[in-house]
Amino acid sequence: MAEEMDCTLAMIKPDAVAAGKASEIQQLAEMHGFLIIAKRQLQLTTRLAEDFYAEHKGKAFFNGLVEFMTSGPIVALVLSKAGAIRAWRELMGPTNVFDARLKAPKSLRALYGSDGTRNATHGSDYPQSAAREIKFYFPNLQLASAAEDAATAQEYIA
Ligand code: UDP
Repeated sequence: MAEEMDCTLAMIKPDAVAAGKASEIQQLAEMHGFLIIAKRQLQLTTRLAEDFYAEHKGKAFFNGLVEFMTSGPIVALVLSKAGAIRAWRELMGPTNVFDARLKAPKSLRALYGSDGTRNATHGSDYPQSAAREIKFYFPNLQLASAAEDAATAQEYIA
C-alpha cells in the first residue's frame, strides 16, 4: 500500500473566518505539530466552489454548501506533518458538528462549527484529493516527495 503523503489541504471556512477564529485555528494546528507551508486568504466564486466540491454535485446539500462557501473569505492552508491527511481529519472531527460535539468535543468542528454545513474547517480525505486540492489553491507550489528527495540526494552523492 502506498504511504500516505505528508501534506494536506486545509480550509478555514467562511463561518470561522467571519467569527475571527482563523488565527486561533492556525495556532491550534501548529500546537498539534502541523507546519503551515503555504497560506492564502481568498473569496471563492460560485464557479470555484462548485469546482472544488465537484464530487458532491447533484447531492441535496450541494447548493447550500456552495452558497455557504461563497459567503465570505476562506483561508486555504497546506499543512505538513507525518500522516497529515489523517491527523488533520482527526483534529477536525466528524463532518456534522452535532456528531462532533458528541464524539469529539475538543475537535475543531465541535469547537468552531455550528451545524452540518457550517463546520468551520475542511481537510483532504485521500492522498489523491490532497494533491488535487493543493494544486487547486497553490498551482505553483512544488512539493518534493520523499522519493524525489532521495533521488536528488543520490545525484549529489554520485
Ligand atoms: N455537507 C453538508 N451536508 C451534508 C454533508 C456535507 O452540508 O449532509 C457539507 C459540509 O460542509 C462538508 C462538505 O459538505 O464539510 C463536504 O462534505 P464531505 O462529505 O466531503 O465531508 P468532509 O470531508 O468535509 O468531512
